[in-house]
Parts: sequence; structure tokens; C-alpha cells
Amino acid sequence: MHTRRIAVIGAGIAGLTAAIDLARRGFAVTVLEQAGAPGGKMREVEVAGQRLDAGPTVFTLRDVFEQLYSDAGTSLSAHLKLLPVSVLARHAWDQSEHLDLHANLAESADAIGRFAGSGEAKGFLAFAARAERIYRTLNTSFMRAAKPNPIELSRRIGISNITDLFNIQPFAKMYESISRYFADPRLRQLFARYATYCGSSPYESPATLMLIAHVEQAGVWTIDGGMHRLAQSLAELARSLGADLRYGTIVTRVDLDRGRVGAIETASGERLAIDAVVCNADNNALALGLFGASVRSSVRETAPAARSLSAVTWNLVARTEGFPLAHHSVFFGDDYRSEFDDVFRRRRLPGRPTVYVCAQDRGDTIAAPREAERLLCLVNAPAIGDTHQFTTAEIQQCEMKAFERLERCGLRVLRQAGASCVTSPTDFNRLFPGTGGALYGPASHGWRSSFTRPGSRSRIPGLYLAGGSTHPGPGVPMAALSGRLAAACLAADYASIA
Ligand SMILES: Cc1cc2nc3c(=O)[nH]c(=O)nc-3n(C[C@H](O)[C@H](O)[C@H](O)COP(=O)(O)OP(=O)(O)OC[C@H]3O[C@@H](n4cnc5c(N)ncnc54)[C@H](O)[C@@H]3O)c2cc1C
Repeated sequence: MHTRRIAVIGAGIAGLTAAIDLARRGFAVTVLEQAGAPGGKMREVEVAGQRLDAGPTVFTLRDVFEQLYSDAGTSLSAHLKLLPVSVLARHAWDQSEHLDLHANLAESADAIGRFAGSGEAKGFLAFAARAERIYRTLNTSFMRAAKPNPIELSRRIGISNITDLFNIQPFAKMYESISRYFADPRLRQLFARYATYCGSSPYESPATLMLIAHVEQAGVWTIDGGMHRLAQSLAELARSLGADLRYGTIVTRVDLDRGRVGAIETASGERLAIDAVVCNADNNALALGLFGASVRSSVRETAPAARSLSAVTWNLVARTEGFPLAHHSVFFGDDYRSEFDDVFRRRRLPGRPTVYVCAQDRGDTIAAPREAERLLCLVNAPAIGDTHQFTTAEIQQCEMKAFERLERCGLRVLRQAGASCVTSPTDFNRLFPGTGGALYGPASHGWRSSFTRPGSRSRIPGLYLAGGSTHPGPGVPMAALSGRLAAACLAADYASIA
């Protein structure tokens, strides 16, 4: 029997984890990536001669990666140095209202008690316990397993654990559920923000997403050298196991042979005969026909209105003053509902944005830099990058509002000409075709949303799906799990026909 040839389209996190698992199982793997480097959204940009992370910054669920490296015969710690953060994030509403969440639950409860009173601290502990319960219920039954339908999920959770099933609260809205634990509107806003980790609105998401708070509470790490080092390390591991990684290679077609995947074609006209494909591009690229007509029906198209958040980001090298930035800091807008209405209903940049700032050079044990430092600032935005060309004036107005918000909280960013790199939804749509700039696949709105994401097997034999738009969903660890699930399905299918 010949060695099975597998093409992986895209070297995002899921493409890389699929490539690692397939290569170590003896498949002949070729990864084709249109960008010049691995990582997809976990990319780097160069500003003022320095390399800056321009994608994910919050690294959680390290056990997902420990397992991946261990299954490949090595260890995560042999490849990367991870440092735990003790301040999960610093939150600000104005010059004086600041609140840190800590890795230590009791410290967070104390901080919340001082900030908003003992009742709110009690509410926090009850909320954290609920978030943990939801996480524990769904961890192995949903996140780390093949996509279930609702009946299958109930079966996996088990009829004897019916209260757990009830407790995941798929039918309640996240913001309403959070409001039962917190009376203080600032705390409601803070914990509701976790919905944005899935690119969604807390006013439309199921309360199930409260589990994200537990994921963060269970540990956040920084990666020595930056997040992009993780992507590089995964690419090195895939290569060491025999995978062929080709950058600057755009896949333009997936062709079928007697009803199953038979070949792919690249923009340069090269044609590769293959036995199967793992597609790490957003599923909508398949549905829109960006890989040709024959695989268009492999997944359902995501309606533009159902897309998740996009963003406007500013990577800067700048000095800051007036506010003690942590590695992760959040500067809240003063009308959270209008922010999500702007983005999801009015489909425009938010008039009163919340701004997230990652100060990449800062950590628990690192003194605040005195000179210019590396920053990533992010504002939520609508995923309309395919139909709306964002003008310089629009982006400048958004920038003005974002930096005004920072100043209202005391943070002055002393920007310098030529020391910034802006990425808009139009840019994200170009980087991630078929998305409109949506960074997390379809939004997780309504109880059905988790069940309507496709699973690893598409409708076409030999075409497997992996990435943030596939089960179990977006975020670095989820995308990694999705790549692993795709590889496991593919290997199981070939084992059964061998
Ligand atoms: C600004 C930002 C901040 C974020 N913050 C966090 C965070 O703090 N924590 C977290 O966990 N997650 C965060 N996320 C989300 C997280 O980065 C993603 O969910 C995850 O990285 C997605 O991985 P993926 O496997 O879906 O692949 P993607 O990153 O989507 O990569 C897909 C790859 O496919 C390639 N591709 C597409 N079409 C083709 C083609 N035709 N030919 C060849 N290659 C192709 C693309 O170039 C890309 O490299 C953030 C994302 C962004 C953008």
C-alpha cells in the first residue's frame, strides 16, 4: 500500500497540529500556506525594526499543547519557555476605578470586595464556581471530543448527571446570567467581555460561554519570545516529523476524482495528486467557492450577519505614561450595549469602544520599560471587510476615540510617526479569505450555534476541516484541538479502509 499523501491548506494553529499528528502517524504531509510564515492569526509584524505579536496574546489551557508535544515524543518545555502571569488582566473604567483579576481566586475575591463590596466578592466566588462546573461538564464531552448533536451531548454527559446538563445554561443569555451574580454594572461588563474571546456579543451568546472565565482562571501564560514562537515551534516539530511546509503558496482548487478528493492546484499552476485534504482556511472560503466549484457544497455558507467579531488593531512601539500597564489591560467603554449594537446591528465601528492593550514587554517580574515598548491595541469591529473598504478617515476617527478612551483612564501613549502598523477588517479579510475579517468563524449566538459549526468530516469524502470556524470553536487551544480531531478522523477513516 502506498503512503497516503495529505495536503494541509493553511499553517494556522489547527493546520500545524493536524500536520504534526498526521506526520507522526506515517502520512506524507505537505502544508501549503499562502503567508510567508506559519501561525495564521498568530502572526508577527515588524514596527520600527522590532517584531511584535499581532494576533492572540492570552495563552490558556497549556495542557492541550503539553499533550500534543508528548504524543509526538517530546515535551512542550523542551521547546518553549512559558511563564505564568499572576495578574490575569488589569481593568480600568476611568482614572481611579481600576481592578485587577488575579490567577489566585482568593486574591481576586479580595480585590473585588475592596472595589465593589463584600456582596460582589461573594457573587464572584459563586460565579467562578458555576463557570468551573460548566467547563468540567463540557471539557471532555464537547471540547475534546468529536462534534456531538444535542442528543449525543446529553448521552455523553450522562442522564445521571442531569443537573450538570441543566447547569450549562444553553438557553439563557450570558449577560442576563452574569447579572444574577453581580449587581455592579462594571463587574457585569468585565465578566460579559469573555464572550468576545469567541468573537461574540454577551447579549446574544448562551450563558454556557461563562466557562471561558474558568479557562482563564485555570492559568494564563506568556511565551518567552512572544506568542508567534509557539507557531514557529509547531512548524519545526511538524518538519522534524517529516512534514513538508511550503510558505508563499496559495491553494486555488481542490479537485475530486470519482467523488472524493484527488488533487489540489496552487496559484502558480502546480498540481499535486493527493489522497486527502485538511482545510485550515476558514470554512466560508470553501462555501464561497474559493477552492473551486466541486468542493463548494462541502460546508454551509455563513451569512454575513452571522459572522463573529473582526477588529481594528494598532501595533505600536511607543513610550507610555500615567497608567501602570499590566501585560494585559482592558479600558472599558462607557456603554457596553451600544458597543455591541454598533458592531453587530448597525455594522459600524463602535462609537464608544472598549480598548484592549497588550504590553508585550511587561510581566509580573519584569520592570516597566522606561523606553519605547511594544504594544498591541485592539478595538472590536464588524466583519464587513469584504463589502466595505474602510477609509483612512474612518480608521483615524476610530483611533482617536480609542486613544481618548485610554487617556480618560490616565494612559498616555506617546506615538511616533512611522512606529505603528494598523490592521483593519479589510486587511483581515485579505489575510483570511472568505471571512469579511471575522476572526472567530461564525458568532456563538443562540443555543444552536455550537452545534451548527461543522465537525471534522465535511460532506465530501477525503476533505477534512480544522480551525476556529470548525468544532470545537475559536481560540488558540480550541483550534489546536480541532486540528487534532481532524487528524484523528482522517487516520480512523484510513485505518478502516486499509
Ligand atoms: C487580533 C487577534 C487576537 C486574538 N486573541 C486571542 C487570544 O488572546 N487568545 C486566543 O486563544 N485566541 C485569540 N485569537 C483567536 C486565535 O488567534 C484564533 O482562533 C486561532 O489562531 C485560529 O487558528 P486557525 O487554526 O483557525 O487558523 P488561522 O489562524 O485562521 O489560519 C488559517 C491559515 O490558512 C491560510 N490560508 C487561507 N487560505 C489559504 C489558501 N487558499 N492557500 C494557502 N493558505 C491559506 C491563512 O493564510 C492562514 O495562515 C485572536 C485572534 C486575533 C486575530
